[in-house]
Amino acid sequence: MSISNNKGLLLVISSPSGAGKTTISKKLVDDIDGIELSVSVTTRKKRKDEIEGKHYYFKSDNEFQKLIKASKFIEYANVFGYFYGTLKNEIVSKINNGLDVIVDIDWQGTRQIEKYLPDDIVKVFILPPSIEELENRLGKRASENKENFLKRMSEAKKEISHYKEYDFVIVNNEIDTAVNQIKSILFSERLRRYRQLSLKATIKKLL
Ligand code: 5GP
Repeated sequence: MSISNNKGLLLVISSPSGAGKTTISKKLVDDIDGIELSVSVTTRKKRKDEIEGKHYYFKSDNEFQKLIKASKFIEYANVFGYFYGTLKNEIVSKINNGLDVIVDIDWQGTRQIEKYLPDDIVKVFILPPSIEELENRLGKRASENKENFLKRMSEAKKEISHYKEYDFVIVNNEIDTAVNQIKSILFSERLRRYRQLSLKATIKKLL
């Protein structure tokens, strides 16, 4: 965990499923210091290649409801018939310690987090290059059953319709380009005046 002189920010990344946001998020964390992924809680079933505590915390409906009652979530939403939620303790202490956190959530969650942490959130929406490419990417997920796949395709358009609620929109034609575009957003946002906590002291010495 690297501690900086900045207040950390929340890089919210939304997109329809299959637009490449998981790959992009992972590359950002691998390439950049001072940024971590928030691990969400979900009631959906674990996919074959997923690891408990790394990709998600997998919980029953009952356990999820208990976390809601205990006010553990910064936001939660029902997405495709399952619950997903972001834990406060995945976020708050990290940004207060100067770490940036990537949050991969849907538009409903983004609205809630924005109310909770309006100054700390940077919202990025990722679009697939075409609907055909999106179908292609979703169809390649071997562990999805057909019914689930069709449901996600119809939900994709619903998610895309919320792109206007985001600060930045990126078309993921080519993964490295998309990653570089998000890096430039992140590096610029880190330089925002109010995020530079040591600025006052620097200015005091200068004037
Ligand atoms: P998947 O099941 O494919 O991993 O994710 C399905 C959708 O749920 C994605 O659009 C993803 O962004 C969203 N999602 C994942 N975690 C959270 C969360 O903690 N909160 C909300 N609101 N959405 C989430």
